[in-house]
Amino acid sequence: NQSLSELDPEIAAVLDGELTRQRDTLEMIASENFVPRAILQAQGSVLTNKYAEGYPGKRYYGGCEQVDIAENLARDRAKALFGADHANVQPHAGAQANAAVLHALADAGDTILGLELAHGGHLTHGMKLNFSGKLYDVAAYGVDPETYLVDMDVVRAKALETRPRVIIAGWSAYPRQLDFAAFRSIADEVGAALWVDMAHFAGLVAAGLHPSPVPYADVVSSTVHKTIGGPRSGFILSREEHAKKIDSAVFPGQQGGPLMHVIAAKAVAFKIAATEGFVERQQRTLDGARLIAERLGAADVAGAGVSVLTGGTDVHLALVDLRHSELDGQQAEDLLHAAGITVNRNAVPFDPRPPRVTSGLRIGTPALATRGFGEGEFREVADIIATALVQGQGADVEALKARVKSLTDGFPLYPELAQ
Ligand code: PLP
Repeated sequence: NQSLSELDPEIAAVLDGELTRQRDTLEMIASENFVPRAILQAQGSVLTNKYAEGYPGKRYYGGCEQVDIAENLARDRAKALFGADHANVQPHAGAQANAAVLHALADAGDTILGLELAHGGHLTHGMKLNFSGKLYDVAAYGVDPETYLVDMDVVRAKALETRPRVIIAGWSAYPRQLDFAAFRSIADEVGAALWVDMAHFAGLVAAGLHPSPVPYADVVSSTVHKTIGGPRSGFILSREEHAKKIDSAVFPGQQGGPLMHVIAAKAVAFKIAATEGFVERQQRTLDGARLIAERLGAADVAGAGVSVLTGGTDVHLALVDLRHSELDGQQAEDLLHAAGITVNRNAVPFDPRPPRVTSGLRIGTPALATRGFGEGEFREVADIIATALVQGQGADVEALKARVKSLTDGFPLYPELAQ
């Protein structure tokens, strides 16, 4: 019964190094967050030992009485949080949830219609190397070349032209809200099912700060680890009429034994998401993103050829357009990384550069809001990023690092975890 550091010092060193990295940098990858200690405890628990194929009360293994309680709590809390008829909390991750949704709603060879990957869609919405692109006949709608917004007239025209079995609304990189009612009416017009992938904005929906897709969609999928700030995993909400198909698509359709330690941690995350403190945090997340978009829309930044797509944000992220900047996406990501700010480069719609370089950045605020940042800190972060992007290759990295350090020092992360 050796401790990790005794048994495997190399891996123990990775954990220590990662804790230090998270403490000493500003985490602004839009899909990341910091889970609370209670979630680390649930996830790092003896529940990892348990096989529980099947569903609560209908397992293919004995000894499931405790894990049944955990899964029922997770399901009931997810349903209550989002006002859904049915919840499946077993998907190991967002991609598995999405595979199960398509498995339930379509047959191989059917047409699916989603947002183009290069315009902010997700791999599981039809990218050609992904299962979704290989199994289904993929049609896509893009954003408008002038406004960078999803134009519902274009979605409707594509739907009428391609007659999809499933219409997908949802994104990985889009700074505005989608019109779920319009998606519903198009789906009804062409006889398609409507699937909303709210992986990114689910926390905002749970807090009541973003329209809910649940009243409009046949099925809603999500991750738990982005704005919600729970364990790395997925879940699916659906109307009652799809409940059986969704459950059987997850197990036995796509997965074997569920990860019961992660499901217990999901239950904890959904409990937290129903609190006032959670709503306040999501509000700071939104306010922070807006402050960053505003600062990056200022004249000095525009003078360096940098702008914010759509001129702002309604969600937890801003998309920076570097097509006219001296920096490409890779260089800007590297520069901010050198200053202690972690973001990811991201293709902008109509990007002239290849996907491994890109002409954009995706900058998100969920993790820093969880860390406790409010208006003053987000203004400072926004100014550090703006200064770096304006100074470009000649940036005074040491000065930027010092400003980052004073922010990270002011908001200790996981103080209860020993180094
Ligand atoms: N759906 C959307 C919209 C996403 O942005 C992501 C994550 O990037 C996923 C699904 C997949 O989630 P995971 O990485 O947990 O498989």
